[in-house]
Amino acid sequence: MQGSFYPAAWMQASIALLSLLLVVVTILWALAARKVRAKRLAMQKSPAGQMTLDSEAKQVLFANPRFCELVQLSNSGKSWQFSSHEHLNQLIALLEPYQKQARVEGIHWKLEFGEHARVLLIYANLEVVRGRELWYVNAYENAQGYSYLNRIEQEQALFANVLNSIPEFIYFKDAEERLLGCNQAWAGFHGLKPNELTGKRLSDFLTRRELSLSQAYDSEVLAGKPCQHTEWFSAPDSRQILLQHNVYPLKNQQDEVTGVLNVSYDVTKWHELNRQLEQENQNRLSSEKELGRQNNLIRTVFNSTPDPLGFIDDKGNFVGGNEPFAKMFGYTSDALLGKHLTEVLSAEQLEQHQVQNSQILETGKPLRYEELVYLDDGHQIWYEVIKGPYFDDVSGERGIIFITRDVTERKATEQQLADAIMQLQELSFIDSLTQVANRRSFDEKLQQLWLTHRREGLELSLLLLDIDSFKQYNDNYGHQQGDEALRQVAKLTSRSVKRGSDLVARYGGEEFAILLPNTSNEGAKLVAENVLKNMTEAQIPHEYSEAGEYISVSIGVATVVPQQGVDYGELVRIADLQLYRAKHQGKARYCCAGDSASA
Ligand code: GH3
Ligand code: MG
Ligand code: MG
Repeated sequence: MQGSFYPAAWMQASIALLSLLLVVVTILWALAARKVRAKRLAMQKSPAGQMTLDSEAKQVLFANPRFCELVQLSNSGKSWQFSSHEHLNQLIALLEPYQKQARVEGIHWKLEFGEHARVLLIYANLEVVRGRELWYVNAYENAQGYSYLNRIEQEQALFANVLNSIPEFIYFKDAEERLLGCNQAWAGFHGLKPNELTGKRLSDFLTRRELSLSQAYDSEVLAGKPCQHTEWFSAPDSRQILLQHNVYPLKNQQDEVTGVLNVSYDVTKWHELNRQLEQENQNRLSSEKELGRQNNLIRTVFNSTPDPLGFIDDKGNFVGGNEPFAKMFGYTSDALLGKHLTEVLSAEQLEQHQVQNSQILETGKPLRYEELVYLDDGHQIWYEVIKGPYFDDVSGERGIIFITRDVTERKATEQQLADAIMQLQELSFIDSLTQVANRRSFDEKLQQLWLTHRREGLELSLLLLDIDSFKQYNDNYGHQQGDEALRQVAKLTSRSVKRGSDLVARYGGEEFAILLPNTSNEGAKLVAENVLKNMTEAQIPHEYSEAGEYISVSIGVATVVPQQGVDYGELVRIADLQLYRAKHQGKARYCCAGDSASA
């Protein structure tokens, strides 16, 4: 019995327990259902539009009559239908961003029914009921809502237009990296449109590098401190651009930081320009340095050379010169700078310089000459001066450069040499230039012949020759050619005498003498004619002569029998007088004492 009792008792106890459990569950279910019913009943009566939405199944579980009226919702018994299915999607989309917060406090829902529209103000709570997430939604009609929303929309459109017309890159995000808004430029930079980006997370479309750059300063900015940084970016067209980011904290009305505003400027061009400017600056600095170095070098050479160097411009102003140059004019270089030639030179020097300067500037050819300068301290200096033209390509300035050399020592040596030659010549009997007898030799010979002729009562003739217009010859053909002409005249003269006892001598500069011992006046005239003939035939050109086209001579002829008590100088005096007559009568001829006319 006991064996059969126990299983029966156990079963009875189990049935009792199960019944109890069933009763408890039924009671609980009834309570919950009552609660739901009570809630629904309360909702039924609520003046506000109320509804329950299954957030996962995205379907309406319940709506009160006011809600049905507000959103044109109807109940077919089994399910709830909106007049437009779009409206359900709109509501779901409106609530979705608030899923995490599980609370919505006053957002606008704009519904359009054909021509007519309505704006509802939505409050909602997300609750978990029997394991399901349900939205309890309250909706109030906002009487002014439509125009209010319209205004808001217009303001938003205006805001978007303003943002989009700014070429800088602008975006703003919340503290959770969600993009709250951006302008066309920024979206375009990422190859997108602004409305495609709003609500997205930056991590959805930025590269890892861009994202880490964008986050680098967030903690600082979210702490309320604006910041600025510059980075290189690859643009979608693979161009490298330099962006300067200005990051500001985004604040709500309570002045709390809720996000980050980023304004980025494309500073690539500016950077490039800056780089070019820096490069140009560098180049300018190095060319200035090089120029400075060259200037220093030139100044050093200029100032350390003992030879005077200086410049005057084409108007005659001193534009530069070293100390030795300034000293030539009795000034320091600083004091001379800017002075005009007229302030520094005597009238005579000024005229000479002005003539030279205009000749140099006209012909472009340099001039070389020697000049004796008397210094203030009484010293005399011989300068060899080279004056040449200069032309500055850059400034267009023209002028004269003076390169001067102190040749006092050389001059002194030359003088000493000339003195020595003079002394030697005085000792010798031959004229070194023409190789005929010199004056000393002539004097001695004349004295000697004077005595012998007086003693023997013989006729002594003298011819004095002077080259015509020889100063002109020297001035135009130069001194060296003048010397050459003197040598030729000496040769031609020597060739004109036949007797061994005749003496041809250089009497003075361009004067020659012919002593004809034991020669009558007729003989002397023949010699004079010979000389004139030889000169004519030689045809040595002399364009500047007053007596013809060729070099010619004038000759004075004198013949005397030396007398007691008369000096040999008498013969020279008569010849000289006749020479004067020949010159006076037109040159290139001879005159003879006693003749009224001559050949
Ligand atoms: P005129 O026909 O009246 O004689 O005129 P001129 O120019 O010949 O006479 P002037 O006496 O005025 O000039 C003489 C010139 O002769 C001066 C000088 O230039 C030149 N002369 C004198 N001695 C020398 C010399 O040794 N060598 C050279 N080359 N020229 C000399
Ligand atoms: Mg003369
Ligand atoms: Mg002469």
